[in-house]
Amino acid sequence: MKRHLLAALALLASTATHAQLSEPEQRLVAAVKQRSPQALALLEKSVRINSGTLNTEGVRAVGAVFRDELEALGFKTRWIEMPADMHRAGHLVATHAGSRGKRILLLGHLDTVFEKTSAVALWDRHGDRVRGQGVNDMKGGDVILIEALRALKSIGALDGTRIDIMFTGDEERTGVPQSVARAPMVALAKQADYTLSFEGCVHHDGVDTASIARRSSGGWTLQVEGRPAHSAGVFTEKSGYGAIYEGARILNAFREQLIEPYLTFNVGVVVGGTDVSYSDATAAGTAYGKTNVIARDFRAKGDLRFLTPEQGERVMRRMQEITAASLPGAKATLSFDEAYPPMPPTEAGQRLAAQLAKASQDAGLGPVVALDPALRGAGDVQFVAAYTTGIDGLGATGSGAHTDDEDLEIASIERGAVRAAVLIYRLTRP
Ligand SMILES: [Zn+2]
Repeated sequence: MKRHLLAALALLASTATHAQLSEPEQRLVAAVKQRSPQALALLEKSVRINSGTLNTEGVRAVGAVFRDELEALGFKTRWIEMPADMHRAGHLVATHAGSRGKRILLLGHLDTVFEKTSAVALWDRHGDRVRGQGVNDMKGGDVILIEALRALKSIGALDGTRIDIMFTGDEERTGVPQSVARAPMVALAKQADYTLSFEGCVHHDGVDTASIARRSSGGWTLQVEGRPAHSAGVFTEKSGYGAIYEGARILNAFREQLIEPYLTFNVGVVVGGTDVSYSDATAAGTAYGKTNVIARDFRAKGDLRFLTPEQGERVMRRMQEITAASLPGAKATLSFDEAYPPMPPTEAGQRLAAQLAKASQDAGLGPVVALDPALRGAGDVQFVAAYTTGIDGLGATGSGAHTDDEDLEIASIERGAVRAAVLIYRLTRP
């Protein structure tokens, strides 16, 4: 594990000197600050449109709002449709053609976890904070991205740059198969030197953070078949141990043998008995069984999160070995779902994070340190980690993302836009 590298980065960020912003960079900051009221108005406009992932009309409508903004900044936009049977809205892509400096991909998403049936108010402002559907995850970040570009445009700094933007329409419930849903993003990433993602900026231990390493996220299903027989014969070679003991053995062995840093595997649900059922659609199941009958069926579902491909391969192999070592009379199989790939820490990622930290400090906005990958879930940036140097968490700061209490610190929009504008400016100079 590369814990020491993350610690080194934190130290680097905290000891960076307060260099002056250049004259164009100062104009950038002024341009962002001057637009702050309109930035909030743009956020409100986008948040007042419900865009739960399955509300494809709403997702498209939010896309149309941002599309207008980006076209006004000189970006060519296009809407990428997904296959109809995927039941997802598709994605907004915007491109600024050029060849100056590094090629950059910027990521946002249009959808939220709040479907049309949500009782959460769309927009509810209280002083310097606002609550609402997706204010922080991640329409606040989308607005930061747009306002940073607007500031760059206002000083002529977009001229000649090569910037692609992708606002996905299904970040919160990715279309299946993921390989199709994320193919356009991967294609863009293959042409990019850097990918900046504007998911929420996590304020942790009193300091703003960014993510240059994120853990994979995927699921697994354990299925066990036992020999149904009279309970009096349990533990014998002939009748065996039954499906439930075998399932319990496997899960306990995972816990006893596999726990290590940056690895988690949570068991979310189990059903066991003579007959069981489980539905992925409803996340609900049933079980029938009697105490004097050895259990025939057992099913467990869990998740799996790891930091590097090597860690994932090793752990999944061990899980399969444990599963295969069955008790008498039982047979178990373990299958893994398609997963968000991990984004392991890299030297290039750390240099990019150091540039973000320096931009922040130069702009008088304090340090930005790398967030411990254990402290955040999975996100879109991970799909491109293998092709480009990525960083996430450049978005707005709030609390309660995905809950009824999701809110946003309004001032974090200006802060985020200043940081992003200065960083993009520096990355795109020749
Ligand atoms: Zn998000």
